[in-house]
Amino acid sequence: MSVDRAKIQWNGWGWAAAKDELASREELWLWLADELGMPSLLATPARPLEEIALPAPRLSAAQRENFVSLLGADRVRDDKFERTFHALGRSYHDVLRLRAGNISAAPDAVLYPRGTEEVLSILSTAAENNIAVVPYGGGTSVVGGVSANGASFPAVVTVDLSGMDRLIDVDAVSGTATAEAGIYGPALEKALQAKGVTLGHFPQSFEFSTLGGWIAHRGAGQNSVLYGRADDWLVSARLATPRGLLATEEFPASAAGPRLTDVIAGSEGAFGIVTEATFRIHPAPAASHYGGYLFHDFASGAAAIRQAVQEDVSAAMLRLSDIEETRFYRAFGHVGKRRGISGKLEDAYLSARGFSGAMTAMIAGFEGSKEIVDYGRKRFAAIAKRHGGMSVGAGPGERWREGRFHGPYLREPMMNRAVGVDTLETAVRWSKVDALYAAVKTALKNAILGTAPRPGAHGIVMCHISHAYEDGASLYFTCIFPRALDGEIAQWQAIKKAASDAIATNGGTISHHHGVGEDHLPWMTNEKGALGIDVLRAIKMSLDPKGIMNPGKLIPL
Ligand SMILES: Cc1cc2nc3c(=O)[nH]c(=O)nc-3n(C[C@H](O)[C@H](O)[C@H](O)COP(=O)(O)OP(=O)(O)OC[C@H]3O[C@@H](n4cnc5c(N)ncnc54)[C@H](O)[C@@H]3O)c2cc1C
Repeated sequence: MSVDRAKIQWNGWGWAAAKDELASREELWLWLADELGMPSLLATPARPLEEIALPAPRLSAAQRENFVSLLGADRVRDDKFERTFHALGRSYHDVLRLRAGNISAAPDAVLYPRGTEEVLSILSTAAENNIAVVPYGGGTSVVGGVSANGASFPAVVTVDLSGMDRLIDVDAVSGTATAEAGIYGPALEKALQAKGVTLGHFPQSFEFSTLGGWIAHRGAGQNSVLYGRADDWLVSARLATPRGLLATEEFPASAAGPRLTDVIAGSEGAFGIVTEATFRIHPAPAASHYGGYLFHDFASGAAAIRQAVQEDVSAAMLRLSDIEETRFYRAFGHVGKRRGISGKLEDAYLSARGFSGAMTAMIAGFEGSKEIVDYGRKRFAAIAKRHGGMSVGAGPGERWREGRFHGPYLREPMMNRAVGVDTLETAVRWSKVDALYAAVKTALKNAILGTAPRPGAHGIVMCHISHAYEDGASLYFTCIFPRALDGEIAQWQAIKKAASDAIATNGGTISHHHGVGEDHLPWMTNEKGALGIDVLRAIKMSLDPKGIMNPGKLIPL
């Protein structure tokens, strides 16, 4: 096991030893209370592990012994920490339940294989005994993808891939590399960059997520405009299934029927376990530039992004915050700080350029050779200008890049003070962006108002364009709201349903990069159609006839 589970928070985000840096910032919490229409924010600490009760383990002694004989006793874990750590993922919904100790299902054992053969043996033993299997990478799923479902099975085991973390091969001639699926983001990039190459997949969850997880839920890194999404960079994979190994083709291109690798990307552990994958790599960038722009409104910033991607400007990332997100993060950063001379000069300059009140901020990132970076920046600057954008230099871009994985660390400090934070995302064609944006924001605001703990309380609902394509974009919504402490799960369900219905009605996908898991299942049939769901079911039946793989996820019953 290369990543020690005990060093990671079992009920939140980050390393267990990390400190709540905001704990003593009283001025910040007073400001946030005011923003949410609350007189103050109550302390709502998480319950400690010792106080939490888990359902009794259901694996029989003989079944447990089967796994011990396959893996050895030290790689079959069923102590309280392991079972709790692996019971749920890291969505707001999951973290709410972990913090409250409201854990209705936990794995009966956690298995740590080391190699494809061991995974295949685990799956055939599980199939023989009708034991449900939950594949687990970093456990950062935000859609209920790793919940230990299995009530209709005699037992459920979680298969934690973190012991399968080798970079196996770099084929520099072909521009591909092969690695085991359990390798974490930082370890994979370190090993690749030591050879002068990169995969370039940097989700915000990069520090705690794995190659296999990225593939299994078809994720997208922050630089996907340049490096592609998981399904773009995945060349081939080895999928261990209850029926044996499915190893897909490695050809650069082929007309020999549908591409089986596409069945694996997005399969969310419901078809089998990805044990190894081959993926495209790029030379590690020699140069990069991340800069900031301001636009007068969301529509003009979005138009600049659309023009840039449709005209093939070689950006790595184009991220546009709406007015609320721009205002919130500026204000958050300034709470408790005196606005000195330089701040006042900045305000005066912005005001002189017509950016005194509402504005939207964009980060435009470029990576590659110096020539490519310079050329891309120049082309984008001209496009931005045409849409009324103003460059504010490299400072905001570099600050964003330094803190690109920091956002999730703000969630638990807020949850410690009765504040909820959830995020959701979609992708929609450019012609529908405006309508979907307006509808989802309204739905979220109304749902928060309808579930607020007291009259006058309300939420902060923000959005940014996170990824862009020639034909559309991904919109990423964040809402911060006062928690209804006497009905928190019902509050989350109401907010989630309102937003998801608005997404579906306005032509968006139920997920651009978080996946389906349990939480998005109710919207799957609408999105794929009944026949489409039948096709997915048929694939599952042929690879997993007993339905033991990650039950209750991806495919509606
Ligand atoms: C704070 C935060 C930020 C995030 N930001 C992003 C982002 O920017 N982009 C993005 O795409 N996602 C993001 N996510 C969602 C999540 O991190 C990603 O889904 C991540 O890629 C999942 O990887 P993981 O290794 O943690 O997988 P897990 O959470 O362990 O698993 C995800 C799903 O894949 C299955 N699975 C895992 N490994 C395998 C395997 N080897 N074989 C078969 N199935 C497997 C699991 O059963 C589950 O269904 C974020 C999540 C959080 C909490």
